[in-house]
Formats: sequence, structure tokens, C-alpha cells
Amino acid sequence: MKHTYLLSSFLLLFSFLTYAQETDSRPPIIDVHVHAMKVNPAFASDMCPWFLKNMPGGDPNGPPPSFMNLDCVDPLKAAKSDQEMQDALLEACERLNVTMVASGDAQILHNWYNAAPTRIIPSLGISNADQMTVKAFEDSLKGGFYKVMGEVAPQYQGLSPSDMSLDAYFGVAEKLGVPVGIHMGTGGNGMANITAPNYRASLGRPFLLEDMLARHPKLKIWVMHAGYPMIDEMIALMGANAYVYVDLAGFIWSYPQDEIHMYLKRLVQAGFGKRILYGTDLMVWPKLLETSIGVIENADYLSYDQKRDILFNNAVRFFNLDASKFE
Ligand SMILES: [Zn+2]
Repeated sequence: MKHTYLLSSFLLLFSFLTYAQETDSRPPIIDVHVHAMKVNPAFASDMCPWFLKNMPGGDPNGPPPSFMNLDCVDPLKAAKSDQEMQDALLEACERLNVTMVASGDAQILHNWYNAAPTRIIPSLGISNADQMTVKAFEDSLKGGFYKVMGEVAPQYQGLSPSDMSLDAYFGVAEKLGVPVGIHMGTGGNGMANITAPNYRASLGRPFLLEDMLARHPKLKIWVMHAGYPMIDEMIALMGANAYVYVDLAGFIWSYPQDEIHMYLKRLVQAGFGKRILYGTDLMVWPKLLETSIGVIENADYLSYDQKRDILFNNAVRFFNLDASKFE
């Protein structure tokens, strides 16, 4: 009798736990824009989200303004070592049910992938022809580890994405059916005269993609940072090119929140809710996942279904993923 009682209590408890687990599990999220980088403790600074809400004044003959601003109550802590970053990031991915498209340092990327293969989709970035020959690039993609090409960031090199020096690389991606993420637009304060001398704001214009897209009709690209702040060109480009998507990475946690929501709302209002991908541009702050997801979850002008499209469904379609694998 007692045994039966114990057993049924146990079964009851067990079914309660299973139920609790199921209801607690968060719907899946795909973050299409993560940077795997070696943590340099000397440079890995803490960060206040939305720090660009107050562009510092300055003078070229004085000390340059700092890129980050630490004037907030609760700055996001930078990881202090590669291991700390990996542990904190992968723990956050489990807890928040996030899968990440990640590019950057090959060793770090392999470490993350080996620790959590279902959470990482490796991506191979190239931004100028000196980094890798076309043949080496093609061999790397054919090796099977890399599923995506990105972040391609010719803007920092002073190049248009349609520059012919990159054309053969896009041709490889087109031939192999590999989707490509291209940095267009935002760079933060003083990118051209403080941080990256070859950077040009004008080389982030979404229209600069048109010639390259015309040469590669089967290429699938997404515009990283959604061409911020050039919303009109972005909308016109997406209208003219039916397969172009955008991601929200970077600007959603660095620029002022009203500005971000105005930009996102405009993209959705213009009819492109099915072409927006969620991304963070995560570097060394593991807690940035929560901060960035919160921006979408708190967007009261989006329906639940529109949020799910941005956080998951659009990426499944764009990257040809199997949604059932995320259940
Ligand atoms: Zn970028």
C-alpha cells in the first residue's frame, strides 16, 4: 500500500516536473550575428547599452572621445577570458534557447562548436582579397564546417560591396548556395577619423549592393545592421530585390532606443516583416543576449507572430533550416 502511494506520488511529481519543464522552455531564437573573438582583457571593456544616445562633443586636437561610455547604473560586464566567455555564452544559449550564426577567430569558433554543436552555425568571413585566395575560400566552404559566409565588411576597407575584387568570392557562395551576410551602414561614433581610417559612411549605402546582386542572381544575402540609418535606400533595395533580408544587429543596443524602434517599425510598416532577422553583433558581453532580445520582446507595435518571425521563423526560411530540429 505504502509502496503504491509512494509510486503514485513519484509519478505525480514526475509528470509535474515534465510539465513544468515543457512550459518553462522558451521558444527558439536564432541570432544571426555573433562574433567569436579572443578576449583581450586589456581591451575588453564593460559597456552601457544604448551608449550612442549621447554623442560626445570633441575637438581633433584634443584626446579622442572613448568609444564606449560607462555612464550607466549597470554596465554589461565584459568576459575576462576565452573560457569565461564560452561558458557564460553557451549557458545563456541553453537558458534562452538561442542558436547562433557565429564568425571570427577559427580556434574560438571550433571550441564553441565542439562544446555545443547544436547551438553554433559556423560562418566564414572575408572582407578583402588579401585575406584568402578564392580557391582557399572555396575549399574552406566545401570542407563542410562553415555553412554561411560573413561577416563581409568591405566598408571598413574603403570598398564597395560591388567592388570587383570581391566578386569571385560572392560567385563561390552563389555556386555553393551559401548565404552571405554583408555589413552595411552603422559603425559608431568617429569610425572614420578615430577608429578605422578607411571606413566611409557613404560605402554603407544599400544601393551599392545592386550591381553585385545583378551579377549574382542566385546569391542569397542579408544586409547586416539593416543599412542603418539609410532606411529609404534599404526599403527600395528590398523592394527591387525579392530575396534580400536584413538583420538588426549592433544598432539595437548602441543607438538611442526611440531611434531603433522608429527604424524597425518603419521596416515592418513598409511590409518587410518576413525579411528581418534577429541578430546581436555579440562580442565580449555574454549578457548582451538578454538586452537585445528584450528590445524585440518590448516592441509593443509588433504582434506576437511578428516577433516570432523576427526571432526565429525568418531565419529558418532564409538559412533553409529544419524547424523541427529546434523543438
Ligand atoms: Zn558589422
